Amino acid sequence: MTDQDHIVFSDLARAPESFDVERTDLRPRTFDEYPGQERVVENLKIYTQAARLRGKMLDHVLLHGPPGLGKTTLAGIIAQTMDCTLKITSGPVIERPADLMGVLANLEVNTVLFIDEIHRLPSHVEEVLYSAMEDGRLDVMIGQGPSARSISFDLKPFTLIGATTRAGALSAPLRDRFGIVEHLDYYSPESLCLIIRRSARLLNLQLNEDAALVLARRCRGTPRIANMLLRRVMDFALVQGKTEIDSEVAQRALARLGVDVRGLARMDREFMRVMRDRHEGGPVGLEAIAAALHEEKTTLEDVYEPYLVSVGFVNRTPRGRQLSAAGRSHLTETEQQFGSEF
Ligand code: ADP
Repeated sequence: MTDQDHIVFSDLARAPESFDVERTDLRPRTFDEYPGQERVVENLKIYTQAARLRGKMLDHVLLHGPPGLGKTTLAGIIAQTMDCTLKITSGPVIERPADLMGVLANLEVNTVLFIDEIHRLPSHVEEVLYSAMEDGRLDVMIGQGPSARSISFDLKPFTLIGATTRAGALSAPLRDRFGIVEHLDYYSPESLCLIIRRSARLLNLQLNEDAALVLARRCRGTPRIANMLLRRVMDFALVQGKTEIDSEVAQRALARLGVDVRGLARMDREFMRVMRDRHEGGPVGLEAIAAALHEEKTTLEDVYEPYLVSVGFVNRTPRGRQLSAAGRSHLTETEQQFGSEF
């Protein structure tokens, strides 16, 4: 097996749209096409309906949760439901206050502005949002020193949707200006089966129930990964001349991709191996794990760790990260089955 065969989840988190694993036409366009996240969807349906009855823009929305769970998709659905245009930007590309002022000043009426990774807006840029969100106004300083003066002008009414993988990284003044705050969590296998079967239908793919369940259980509760695995399994089936994907085809393809029975990829297992083999299972600081894996600490924090914690393989303690007994035995069983290079 080559390195290319392995799934690298951090690539999916960093470049969801440019990484050619998924065409955007698999994205649900309406709430009814969007399985899972039932409580969030129910709430958003009510808030959008109420805003429409009032004839007003929807209040500003903050969506937080791990990458690939459908935050951008929900922003599109909200814009569609509100008959608004969706404008998409992201925290890291807005470097100066003037950049954000330009975006806000140029918004058309009835626009939903989606800012992905909003926690990565620099604080002096973020401050521009305060009066824009609260009063629909931009305050601009003209000149410098004693002759400096502030002028303000009104913006067209808009809805800001901020998405973040870490709500805790948002400053309190910004967080408090969102009237609607919703958390997205990993999907259940049942919801993922619905998503996978819908994607298979759109891709004209014959996929039986068992195969859908195999994929649903091994995609780390994440629709983006489910769709990506589906495409790769589709490649294996095509090359093997299979017209229908059954659970055997799916399992063989996933093993080749380095995805184990719990949906972990090699990097997840490396994360746990560093803890087991170099730090006696921990507790160990995330910095030390990041250095050993040559990865950014923030990538481990956003992409790998949340799922390992959610399945109980890694625990966060005040003294650092600790490998759990369940994590240790999963690692041992996987290595016994596929070898320590897997
Ligand atoms: P995020 O913005 O949270 O990183 P996205 O909205 O980009 O995630 O979703 C990633 C992909 O997963 C989308 O392209 C979409 O096709 C799919 N997806 C996400 N949530 C759902 C869902 N509830 N139903 C069907 N597909 C979904």
